[in-house]
Amino acid sequence: MKINSYHSVKSIEEAYKLLNDNKQNAIVAGGAWMRLSSKEIETAIDLSEIGLDQIVETEDAFEIGSMTTLRQVEKHEGLKKHYDGALSNALSHIMGVPIRNVATIGGSIIGKYSFSDVLTPLVIMDVELEFYKKGRLSLEDFLVSKDRSKDVLVKVIIKKEEARGYFKKMQKTGLDFAVVNVAVSKQADTIKIAVGARPSLVKFAVEAMAFVNGAKEITEEVILETAEIAGKELKFGTNSKASESYRRNIAMAYIKRGLREVTV
Ligand SMILES: Cc1cc2nc3c(=O)[nH]c(=O)nc-3n(C[C@H](O)[C@H](O)[C@H](O)COP(=O)(O)OP(=O)(O)OC[C@H]3O[C@@H](n4cnc5c(N)ncnc54)[C@H](O)[C@@H]3O)c2cc1C
Repeated sequence: MKINSYHSVKSIEEAYKLLNDNKQNAIVAGGAWMRLSSKEIETAIDLSEIGLDQIVETEDAFEIGSMTTLRQVEKHEGLKKHYDGALSNALSHIMGVPIRNVATIGGSIIGKYSFSDVLTPLVIMDVELEFYKKGRLSLEDFLVSKDRSKDVLVKVIIKKEEARGYFKKMQKTGLDFAVVNVAVSKQADTIKIAVGARPSLVKFAVEAMAFVNGAKEITEEVILETAEIAGKELKFGTNSKASESYRRNIAMAYIKRGLREVTV
């Protein structure tokens, strides 16, 4: 990454204007991922002086400023309990503490990284993103959106709700990217199943979810059949980390474990 000039903004409005002044201007959050690219940035926009690095816990939500580091989110006492700590658990397996002290929640969401261990636990929860210009939209809508307009992500809102959660990442070594990752949740009577690093972007197992949510009772037979359906409907791929069939089999095993955990 080559940066020609640097500007630390004093407001979100200033950041938005500067971002849209020039196609080559960009927000640099933690910069952990951006620094690995060969991209040339005209003006690097720094948001670190405008208080976006806080987690505010209200009666019904956790409002996480976009510049909050992954480590802050991982260690937050309220989030450690939310969905049985699925998000904290997922974050704790991303590289080491020094990277998690730098990488931000905002950069992790905007990047829509296919290997993400951040998006998989978040999609099974009720999450909204607040942008400066576009306003609020659900994380689900953001992930499928083709809108390429440049905007500033201000905060991530995780709604509070009574729910069970499960997250599991398969990785070859402690510091590696996921071979595949799985998140399962049960909120009221609704079960969600998401699989990421397939190696493409996280996706819901829609048919498997319809099947399990339509079952009268979650028996072992229903769990096995749900994992089979998910294994058939989701696309997996082969790359240097693992083959398609290995990923599929691991995902199915984790879906079964996740369903058993969230339904007891
Ligand atoms: C060596 C290494 C290993 C990693 N391993 C994993 C892993 O195993 N699992 C995993 O999930 N992640 C992994 N990551 C990714 C990491 O968790 C972060 O997701 C990543 O670094 C992006 O966060 P950042 O703060 O560094 O964003 P940056 O690199 O600063 O920015 C990323 C993108 O988001 C944009 N952006 C940032 N903030 C905003 C905002 N507020 N509004 C609008 N746009 C914004 C930037 O312009 C840029 O396009 C790894 C990263 C590194 C460097």
